[in-house]
Amino acid sequence: MPAQICAVIAEESVSAAREAMTKAAAVADLIELRLDYLTDFDFSNLNNLRSLLEHKPVPVIITCRAIEEGGKQQIEERTRLRLLVEGARSLADYCDIEAAHYGEAASLNPDASRLIVSYHNFDQTPADLNAVYDRVTALPAAVHKIVTQAGTITDSLDLFSLLDRAKRDSRKLIALAMGEPGLMTRVLGPSRGCFLTYGSLVPGRGSASGQVTCEQLVDLYRVRKLSRDTVVTGLIGWHVAQSASPEMHNRAFAACNLDFVYIPFKVDDLTHFFRRFVRPETRELDWNLRGLSVTIPHKTAAMPLLDQIDETASGVGAVNTVVVDGAGLSGYNTDVAGGTGPLERVLKLAGESVGVIGAGGAARALIYGLLKRGARVTVFARDIDKAKQLRNEFGVSVTPIESFGASDVRIVINATPIGMRGHSEGSSPVDAASLQGRRAAYDLVYNPAETRFLRDARAQGCRTIGGLEMLVAQAALQFELWTGHQAPIGVMRSAASPRIEE
Ligand code: NAP
Repeated sequence: MPAQICAVIAEESVSAAREAMTKAAAVADLIELRLDYLTDFDFSNLNNLRSLLEHKPVPVIITCRAIEEGGKQQIEERTRLRLLVEGARSLADYCDIEAAHYGEAASLNPDASRLIVSYHNFDQTPADLNAVYDRVTALPAAVHKIVTQAGTITDSLDLFSLLDRAKRDSRKLIALAMGEPGLMTRVLGPSRGCFLTYGSLVPGRGSASGQVTCEQLVDLYRVRKLSRDTVVTGLIGWHVAQSASPEMHNRAFAACNLDFVYIPFKVDDLTHFFRRFVRPETRELDWNLRGLSVTIPHKTAAMPLLDQIDETASGVGAVNTVVVDGAGLSGYNTDVAGGTGPLERVLKLAGESVGVIGAGGAARALIYGLLKRGARVTVFARDIDKAKQLRNEFGVSVTPIESFGASDVRIVINATPIGMRGHSEGSSPVDAASLQGRRAAYDLVYNPAETRFLRDARAQGCRTIGGLEMLVAQAALQFELWTGHQAPIGVMRSAASPRIEE
């Protein structure tokens, strides 16, 4: 069955709901209308529902949740259930009734072929999910639904295994995990038999946590085209929701007509994730996983979990890319070539003196790459003791950030978060005057595209390079490692640009 995308409409007024239904038809196959959100609706009058649904553009599921099931207002129980049961009989295509209220709804003689019976758990994914499945599916209905809160990404495994069970039982099931760690169930669920997946119409206006927009499901993740054979890639880290990588990779896969998808995976426990999802011998998910981008805080911790690590990643002491293939798990670091590439394209690095401000992970990748290309590197750090490690490992000079003005480095790289949106936008790690006479200034910060550091440098006559170049270059190299195809750089750059200005 092709994937079905269901737009959730949770509007406060009937007119707004009607308008949203028209918009939803452009992106969704079905609509779930949350009647409990409506504040100008008479729940005791079926005619009200008629006027709302008479021109429904696609099939509609009506639902009106009780307060304890996440409902928005107190509605008399019998009135609420009657509206749903009678509404589904004559006006809507389905009504969604909570399993806990099934008995009462059954006394109203519902049409079981239009009934979705649901179980929600807004606190957790219970350990006995199979028992929940037994209880819920014992209630006659056209579709059963189990939606739980994901505490960690491993909860997704239990939801996927319910989908397999439903397939064996020839049942229609919706099994989804809410919350950021559950995103993979929303994206991959339909390809694994989930009856539908929900999306919001407007970003950030989802009716459940972790819900993405219908447009993202359709255009970004291409949920309707995914199958169990689709090659899966994704990003693992703590803060993956704001990453530009899903935009870059998914748009690139689409442009190259590749049956690949890229999903943000919020991973807290790396060892668990590798054992249960990644390592072919132990993983519990039967999926076509090809690779991972690795971000904070897993870049170093991932190394002992891999079978081989390429020379660059070993030299840096961090991986940002994993490739899964017949040889097992291989680690790479595309931050090195991705970081030095934008500089090399415009300047010769051999023999050049380069100053790197900051001594963290990005600085480390740049230092390794600069030294390999024959540059002389000075690190400017706020904490000299921490930065001494770089001197010991790479033999670079390390000096306090305050000494930058007096130094003679000709190329300067900002490898601190200073100037970043949401961190210290408008600030620069160095005085504007201290940039005078330098050949080039390169800011690894990519949001905003034009930082104070770059503005100051340009005003002082330096050539400038923004962090977007590295962002795109390191992603393009990942794309090539996973797919074997040349990356469509232009597509990736335009995919990242609007995303990072949000
Ligand atoms: P990180 O590992 O946390 O390192 C940050 C470094 O900046 C540390 O050395 C830190 O000093 C220093 N720092 C932080 N605040 C500072 C301040 N107020 N004054 C002086 N130094 C300060 O982070 P990272 O992964 O290296 O990332 C650094 C920046 O590069 C971030 O903005 C990130 O977004 C950007 N980045 C861009 C790309 C790209 O593709 N364009 C790739 C990777 C990173 P302490 O050691 O004293 O804490």
